[in-house]
Amino acid sequence: MSATNDQHGHEHPRHELSHYAKRIYAIRDLLLEKGVITEKDIQCQIEYQEARSPANGAKIVARAWVDSEFKARLIAEPKAACAELGIDAAALNEFVILENTEKVRHMVVCTLCSCYPRPILGRPPDWYKSFNYRQRSVTDPRGVMREFGLVLPDDVEVRVHDSTADIRYLVLPLRPRGTEGLSEAELAKLVTRDSMIGVMDALPTLP
Ligand code: FE
Repeated sequence: MSATNDQHGHEHPRHELSHYAKRIYAIRDLLLEKGVITEKDIQCQIEYQEARSPANGAKIVARAWVDSEFKARLIAEPKAACAELGIDAAALNEFVILENTEKVRHMVVCTLCSCYPRPILGRPPDWYKSFNYRQRSVTDPRGVMREFGLVLPDDVEVRVHDSTADIRYLVLPLRPRGTEGLSEAELAKLVTRDSMIGVMDALPTLP
């Protein structure tokens, strides 16, 4: 193969690819050639990876908001509670739910690289992997939150959690006030990716 498809469907000649991309495609070609994997395996894996998105996390959070027994199970046995909703979190080693309160906000980072609860939130945003975020989330978490638009009173405690290969976190944001009339599906629309990383609260009203 002399050209490759990127995620937008454009063809890129091999010579335009970076060293590491060339290496990945070379390994892929070898695996195909030797019959270790098939084109179909690759396609299935891409579809599986793409299907994982913050919509999974939003579904979990909305259920926890409307069902306190589910919330208790989610905090006690996160992976089993995810399975109840058809979300497969088995790939995560240890999975911990961090419940925000009026007095405590949690924020998640991976200071070393980009560890992230991918089965629940999909792929991490670029800023999550940036050196700037990885450093400043530790030294100035309130400053980071402010840039995302969240200004917290001084008496609210901010706890920063460092993800690793062994442990992944999901922030359970506070249910916004005045949302008693919303359905579970509507509530899920208030749960943004960033609110589950913990740099923001959930949206106050439907978008
Ligand atoms: Fe990491």
